[in-house]
Order: sequence, then C-alpha cells, then structure tokens
Amino acid sequence: MARYTGASCRQCRREGMKLFLKGERCHTDKCAIEKRNYAPGQHGQGRKKVSNYGLQLREKQKVKRIYGVLETQFRNLYERADKMPGITGENLLSLLERRLDNVVYRMGLASSRKEARQLVTHGHFTLNGNKVDIPSITVKADDVIAVKENSKTSAKFKALVEANASKVAPKWLDANLEGMSAKVVAMPTREDIDLEIAEHLIVELYSK
Ligand code: SF4
Repeated sequence: MARYTGASCRQCRREGMKLFLKGERCHTDKCAIEKRNYAPGQHGQGRKKVSNYGLQLREKQKVKRIYGVLETQFRNLYERADKMPGITGENLLSLLERRLDNVVYRMGLASSRKEARQLVTHGHFTLNGNKVDIPSITVKADDVIAVKENSKTSAKFKALVEANASKVAPKWLDANLEGMSAKVVAMPTREDIDLEIAEHLIVELYSK
C-alpha cells in the first residue's frame, strides 16, 4: 500500500481528533479540528451507528496515522509485540514509540513525525555514532541518537532547537536539545505515551 499523500487535516477529521500531523499549525486556531470537527465528505455530518468492528478498525487506522506507519509495517510490529512478554497492546505502542523517527520528534528535533521521517531519510542523524537513514529502526536501551556533526550548524536545526526549546522530552529519553542528542535510558511504558489510544481494540481486531 502506498503512503498517503492527501491532506493531513482530513485524516484528523476522519478520526475526530487532533493527530498532530502538521507541526506548528496543529497548535493554532488554523487547525481544521478547531474549525470543522466532523468527518470529511458529503455525509461527514450525518449520524452514524458504528459497529464493534468499525471501532476496532478506526482505532488501528488512527494509530497508523499518528505514527505514519503503513499497513504491512504495522502488522509486523503487532506480530513482534504479540511475541514479547507482557501486554500485547502496550508492547505495540512501546515499539511504535521506539521508532527512530518518533524518537527524533520526541527529542524536539522535528515539528512532526512526518518531518522527522524526512530528516532521518536525508541522513542528518547518527545512531551510536554511525550514520543512519532508516526511520523505522527500533531504538533500544543505551542507544544514543544525535544530529550529524556537519548538520548541527544548519539553519534548519538551529530553527528547530529554538522553536522547540520549551518542549519536554519523555522521561525514557535523556535529551539534550541544545546538544542535539538523546540517550535512551529506559523502555517507554504506557504511562509515558500521552496519546488517547484504546490499544485493546487493535488487539481485538488482529486476534480475530
Ligand atoms: Fe490535524 Fe494538525 Fe491539521 Fe489540526 S492542523 S487537523 S492537528 S494535522
């Protein structure tokens, strides 16, 4: 399945909540959810009865959209999560949080996960001192993620550091925004993930 290239705000309106796909704009009154919080399309404002299956499907779509993950990648992550000890839904969210592009976003070095993915793909980051350009890599404890030395002086990263100076990284990351680096000091737990997600619905969907 190809990556979605349509309007990001349409995805938020479909899910009925802010998915924070567009960076700064999401925090302003230009946000489409602030202005038109109903599903897009001709029947977007109609009343709908949603089946249990429909709820499960929407929850999965929502999480895929938040993290910008395609169906096959998402299914593979679910299978990994299912084989891990613990609660499958929480394992799944932890694996999504540990994706390199999400880590870059959480560090404050991108204004959205989409931008983080692009910056990683363009080779601006290192993982444990080695250049990395795969956004889907799963980081692990003690990994160090940093902006490449010769990218640190770029206007882009200077602007990102300035714009995100007040952003607080989650406690599983020891982030140094000024130094443009972070160390993974723990695995993210469910309490660390500040997103309204009913992960049990995704587990129910895939367990059928
Ligand atoms: Fe979603 Fe951001 Fe668009 Fe608001 S501005 S609808 S949060 S992508």
